[in-house]
Amino acid sequence: MIELMQLRKEYDNLVAVDDLTLTVPMGEIFGLIGPNGAGKTTTIRMAAGLLAPTMGRAIVAGVDVAKEPERAQQHIGYLADFFALYEDLKVWEYLDYFAHAYNLPEGEIAGRINEVIAQVNLEVKRDQLIHGLSRGMKQRLGIARAIIHHPKVMLLDEPASGLDPKARLELRNLLRALRDQGATILISSHILTELEGFCTSIGIMERGRLVRSGSIEQVTAAATTTRLVRLSWAGDSPGLAQEKLKSDARISEINLGSGSGTFRFSGSEEDLAPVLAGLVAINVQVTSFGEVKQTVEEVYMKLSTHEVM
Ligand code: ATP
Repeated sequence: MIELMQLRKEYDNLVAVDDLTLTVPMGEIFGLIGPNGAGKTTTIRMAAGLLAPTMGRAIVAGVDVAKEPERAQQHIGYLADFFALYEDLKVWEYLDYFAHAYNLPEGEIAGRINEVIAQVNLEVKRDQLIHGLSRGMKQRLGIARAIIHHPKVMLLDEPASGLDPKARLELRNLLRALRDQGATILISSHILTELEGFCTSIGIMERGRLVRSGSIEQVTAAATTTRLVRLSWAGDSPGLAQEKLKSDARISEINLGSGSGTFRFSGSEEDLAPVLAGLVAINVQVTSFGEVKQTVEEVYMKLSTHEVM
């Protein structure tokens, strides 16, 4: 659905995007994560056909965006990181303008406008001027504009930036709903928690390169050298558990308090079962035992060197 093939963008002697290859299959949501200047905007603009790559190709919904830009636009819903709205228009007028720009059939326009307004939850603002909308509402209006022509693919550049937590949650729900309706989405963010539980795959971008990509689980696993395990037990004294854990060479950073604590384990998930069995066998009254999964944010902090160009 979205295929970026060895995309490269050079500005004078700066390589903003460096031979980036990426496929987002139909119905998937790919989250592009990276610090400022990593090349996310440049990548998305090339995918949208708005910026000519120095080398490489972008194919969206089967259309080469450089060769057939107009056909490609029919399939693409693009939201820039910063976009200007015509503040003096009413919400519905703004969407009407774009519905015409996308050549939607005249008889369908009014219905479609109401549909997208409902989808982004702006019904109460339908007849109000854009000027009076909050930042979150403007962002949702931008998305309404981006989907008005039923695009198969959405390219969203940091749609959550600058939004308060409530507006972010609303945006997240909206994007989830679009995903459930079958949209293929490439979304960039440096607000990593935005992407967790929402993207089907993520890629970490650094200095124009995709340094790691895959499902969130794959990327997480790649960054995990040791697992953090939390356990708790009935009775206060950590003595018994402490001794047992110390005797296992794969275990480090044992930090047990009264009735609960953590340790690091260098084995696999399956290898943890005998560790638990060993504690139970020496009569530690274990009440809970399990790995503390890392958040995407923690993984990113580990993987990323936070270098900026
Ligand atoms: P941000 O999170 O800050 O939006 P980004 O990951 O989207 O960052 P880009 O905007 O793609 O990064 O920029 C990548 C690099 O390319 C940066 O070093 C930037 O300064 C440079 N760059 C972008 N556009 C131009 C331009 N028109 N001319 C020269 N350099 C540019």
